[in-house]
Amino acid sequence: MAYSYDDTNIFARILRGEIPCSKVLETEHALAFNDIAPQAPHHVLVIPKGAYVNYDDFASNATDAEIIGFNRAIGEVIAQLNAAPGDGGLGYRLVANTGEAGVQDVPHLHVHILGGRVLGRMLPAAQ
Ligand code: AMP
Repeated sequence: MAYSYDDTNIFARILRGEIPCSKVLETEHALAFNDIAPQAPHHVLVIPKGAYVNYDDFASNATDAEIIGFNRAIGEVIAQLNAAPGDGGLGYRLVANTGEAGVQDVPHLHVHILGGRVLGRMLPAAQ
């Protein structure tokens, strides 16, 4: 699937340095920053630096280096948050809201890392 990318979206503007963010980590291929409206004690967004609309766009069109770099950055943030259960952390949840059904607000791929408390079941009962 080829998506058209709107480079006026807010995360593109953060990547260009036009608006500030509360940076957690920056690597060659990824930027991580605190969500402006946190829904848990830990709520970090990780975005690739490349212009990808969502996860399927990224998985299909990104280079291997971008895919590895993005995923390693997610791992580094989880380590920074001391959230990995194997390291005594409480655990965490990764979320990538996509499109209309996923209720995606910002059309640049972002993975939410949520943690710091027990988050409850993933979805409410189907309606
Ligand atoms: P969604 O696209 O629904 O997965 O979520 C977009 C997320 O971006 C929301 O959790 C917002 O609170 C967050 N957000 C929007 N603008 C900013 C910003 N300038 N800095 C950090 N987080 C933001």
